Amino acid sequence: MPTDRPPNHSPEQVEYRRRQEERAKRRKKRQMQKLMFLGACLVAVIVLVVAIVLVVRAIIKPAPRETRADTSVSTVSGTGPEADYPMAADPNAWNLVLINAQNPMPDGFSPELSEYVQNGVTYYFDARMLPELERMVTDCNTVEGHSLHVLVAAPGADRQNARYTGLIEAFRAQGHDEAEAEQMAREVEPPYGYSDHQTCLAVDFGTAEVTDTTQAFAETPEYAWLMANAPEYGFILRFPQSKSAITGITYQPYHFRYVGVEDARIIMQAGICLEEYVAQQPMAPPVVSDEVVSSSLPQDAAA
Ligand SMILES: [Zn+2]
Repeated sequence: MPTDRPPNHSPEQVEYRRRQEERAKRRKKRQMQKLMFLGACLVAVIVLVVAIVLVVRAIIKPAPRETRADTSVSTVSGTGPEADYPMAADPNAWNLVLINAQNPMPDGFSPELSEYVQNGVTYYFDARMLPELERMVTDCNTVEGHSLHVLVAAPGADRQNARYTGLIEAFRAQGHDEAEAEQMAREVEPPYGYSDHQTCLAVDFGTAEVTDTTQAFAETPEYAWLMANAPEYGFILRFPQSKSAITGITYQPYHFRYVGVEDARIIMQAGICLEEYVAQQPMAPPVVSDEVVSSSLPQDAAA
């Protein structure tokens, strides 16, 4: 039965419902916004964490090692631990020239020499290294009590061979046979053409007290000064005690060798010898010496 009762939708009710719907919409929108904001926050946090991890990794990661261009060192016996020092700027540079039993002085090797005059005696050195040698000796001797001076520079054939044969005689006098005496002499002062002195970059030092090339130099304050400061002038201890099996030469605390500041710092800091350092370089000459070097050097025989 039709009734004339008006529909239960008064304008107020309609308005009320509309407002309610709008409120619900707004609430939904706010919730969506909140969710989006939280999502954005989460993404930001993740990005930040990843960034931090990457940065920390980059900091902790060690610097990449210099690439070694040559693996020949693996065939070199007795060169000690894996090298982890930088390569020489120029492995074929004049300052790294290697003259030893396996690498005789090349034909026609004649660097330009300069005179070093000391107490009226003239010594000859490679002209390119002489200023550094002079500076080093002068600086060492500004320390009170120091009296570093040159004993041997670059002996000519006669003088170097006389050092060698003099040693053979000394060892024979100790009762060694000819072959033994010769071998022992080669391990102290090799004949001309096989000695580091022929590079004209080597120097044997003495002091006011130690006037011959002897092990006693190791006890002097001048030696201690050289071990601490020589690399800053480009010099290294050429024949360290622990390296005689590699250098083929007995421990010679008095024999220093110019290699240039950059290479000297690396060599002395790494505690290696020149043979090991050069063997690490591309195009390096072979280093072969397994013989354990006798240390039965007569105290003053190497003078
Ligand atoms: Zn020497």
